[in-house]
Order: sequence, then structure tokens, then C-alpha cells
Amino acid sequence: MFRLIFPSRQLNTFFSQLPLLLLAIIVLFVPSSVFAFDSTDFPIRVFIDPIIKINNSFAAPEAKLPVPEQAYSAFQQGVLDWSRLMVALPKDPSDVNYTLILRRQTSTKQEFEAYNRFGFMRFVDKREDADLVIESVDNKDARGKTILGREFQPYPLGYHTLDKRYRFGRIVMALRGNDLDLRVVLLHEIGHAIGFEHFKGEKCNLMNATNYTCVGDSPPDCVLNNANARCLAITDGQLRFVEEQLIAAKGKGPKMTFVDWRQYQLQVESRIQDEIIALGEFKDDGNLTLMLLADGSIKSIDITHSFGSREKDDQILSRIKQIDNFGKFPATHEEKEDKFALSYESNQVSERYQKSITEIIQAKIYPILPLKPMGKLHLKIAHDGQVIQTEIAQSFGNPILDTRILQRVKELKAFTPFEDDEYQERYATLSFEEKQPLDELR
Ligand SMILES: [Zn+2]
Repeated sequence: MFRLIFPSRQLNTFFSQLPLLLLAIIVLFVPSSVFAFDSTDFPIRVFIDPIIKINNSFAAPEAKLPVPEQAYSAFQQGVLDWSRLMVALPKDPSDVNYTLILRRQTSTKQEFEAYNRFGFMRFVDKREDADLVIESVDNKDARGKTILGREFQPYPLGYHTLDKRYRFGRIVMALRGNDLDLRVVLLHEIGHAIGFEHFKGEKCNLMNATNYTCVGDSPPDCVLNNANARCLAITDGQLRFVEEQLIAAKGKGPKMTFVDWRQYQLQVESRIQDEIIALGEFKDDGNLTLMLLADGSIKSIDITHSFGSREKDDQILSRIKQIDNFGKFPATHEEKEDKFALSYESNQVSERYQKSITEIIQAKIYPILPLKPMGKLHLKIAHDGQVIQTEIAQSFGNPILDTRILQRVKELKAFTPFEDDEYQERYATLSFEEKQPLDELR
């Protein structure tokens, strides 16, 4: 049975929503209500970054473009939709198997303010105040498709990552498609952020990985290629899951208990990351697949995309195998074994950053170089831009020249700090080619 929670647009005025708003207020302030927001956990504070992200660090100031207004408001709408869903959840549905259908919404200013005040989620102005961060990326690869950095699937529309800095992680969205697509993808990613895994099997479910929109017979008026008639669905059971966990979380302090499995995944992901980082530099984005048994032991582990060399891969594998046990699966997760597809972005500096520091070093060392020197420098750079280590990776011709070059690089002040970086240190190998006349440097 389907229940229409989002009415058609012409009904969607502040006054038609008034009963809902009243319900929201009652629900939040009457102690015996269906909701049990714990004051330390809720609302989830959401920061939508107004600036488009350039992946891993360093962007020239002119590259700091604002997120287009339509996209930004689509993100706001997605957040409000979740608040609306949770706040409007009826106490006793007549049919436990019913499905809520989500139609396109545009909140009025009043609704916007009311949900932001009383909702399940709330907007904040500063990243450091946030429990959940929404970022967008618009950088393109050679084929002109938006790329989302560390995500290894081909061209996903968005992903949620368990970023330790924020309690509910970080969502990265690809800026493409129309505003409705952005809202729909964001609704799905927020689902992950609050603890949902993919909903297998059933089409027309918000948490289905691919068939999340409803078309055709269920219900018949949902049309895929009509933005205003496109639908999403979420089951009562899914919403009850969130509700139960909200209640379970009450009084348990700032950590969410309802995201048990996501917490477990985070712990596995970051434990492995620590091991990989401890092994120093890795030149390529590496992917691995890990099968764990419910007791936390490793059933199998494979590297599905190399970290840069066979040797590095072997080191990483043997180090992870030494972990031996990741701890029992949480009791709420009933699988006997589970698969983890993990991806780790290389700890090289970005290409853009590399280019800029090559230019800075060129300006410093070219005056002392003979006409046709070629060589390579290898640098280890800290998060704040300080150079921690400089080595000659390929001689510039003779040891005396190499020593002079190292000397000059040491005289440099720090480079630009990395922006929002997940690694404390990054590596760069810089090639210096045949000397160009100075006036051709740019
Ligand atoms: Zn997903």
C-alpha cells in the first residue's frame, strides 16, 4: 500500500503544511511522543559547503567558484526532505508494509525556517560546527565527466564517506544533472549517513543502489522522465529503524548508537588506512576487497587496484594480515560474513600542487644550474606546507651540484598548506627538465 506523504505542488503552501508543522512541534515537545531526540545527538548539524571543491588540496584563488544557486538550494531541499520525513512519521501506520512516496517538493520560506529550527537536521554556517558536511565537486577528467576524487566506481553521482572529523561523515556530490537529480542523490546519500545500507532487491526504494526512482505501476503516476512526477519511496520499516535507533540513542552521549554497522565499517576503513600510511608513500589510488567473518577474522583479502607497485601491494597485504581480527560484527548486523570494498587515495600531492611547487623551486634553483641540467627531487611535505624531507631522486649531474640544490630548497619557506586534507603528510617527485630561458617561465 502506498501512502502519499508529499502532496502535489499546488497544495504545497505554508498553510496546507500547517498541520504538519504543528505536528512537528507537538512531536518534539510532548514527552510521550514517537520521537526521542537526544539533546546531544540531534538535530544533526549540516554544513553545505558553498564553494566547489577541487580534489585534494591547493587551488588557485580564482578557482574557488561558488556552488551554483540552484544546486545549493537542491541540497538544502534534500536535507529538509529528511526532516520532513522524520517529523511527519505517523505513530501507528494502518499497514506496516506501507511505503511512503516522496514527490518533488519546494519548501516555502516559512517551512524552511520551521524545519531548520525543529527538524531532524539543521543547517549551520561553519564547517567546524557540523556533524555532516555536504561538498560538491565539478572537476572533469579528459572525457569531460565529473570525477569525485577517491571514489573508484566510474563516475558516481555522489558518495558518503565516513570522515572522522564529522560524526555523520561527509557527502561528496558531483555537480551535474538537474537540481532534481541532485536532490534525489543527496536524499540517498543522507540515508547512508544516518546508517542505511543499500536496500537489495526491491526497486523504487530510496536506498536501492541503482533502481531508486519509481516508474510505472507502483504507483502508476510516477514518471521517470517528468521531473515533477518522479517519485522515490521509503518503507515504513526503514523509517522505524531510524526511529528505534533514535530512541536507543537517547541518553547515551554524543556517539550515535544506531549507526553500529557504519561505525564498524569506519573502524575497519581507518584501521587499514593507519597501516597503509605507516608504510609511507604510495603512488596510486589503491583499492582492496576484504571479506570478514562475523567474528572479525579475515576470510580473504585482495588488492583490486595496485597502490603503485607490486612491492608496495605485498607490504600492505602482509601488514593488514597481521591485524588478524577486526573485532566481532555488531549484534545488530546479522550477516555471517561481509565484504568491504575500500579505496585509498594516493598520498602524492595533487598534480596542480606539484606543478606549482615545481615552479617555485625552479625559480630558486635555475639561477645556479648550468645550461642543461636534468634531475629529480623527491619531497615529503607536511599538512601545513612545511617541507619535511628533500632528497635527490635523480642526480642533476654531479654531487656538488646536488648538494647546492638541496641547500637552496632548504632555504624555501613553507608551501601552501593542504586544504581539508586526510593525510598529515604527502609526497612529490618533481622532474626538472632542460633549463628554459627565465622569461619563458610561467
Ligand atoms: Zn548508495
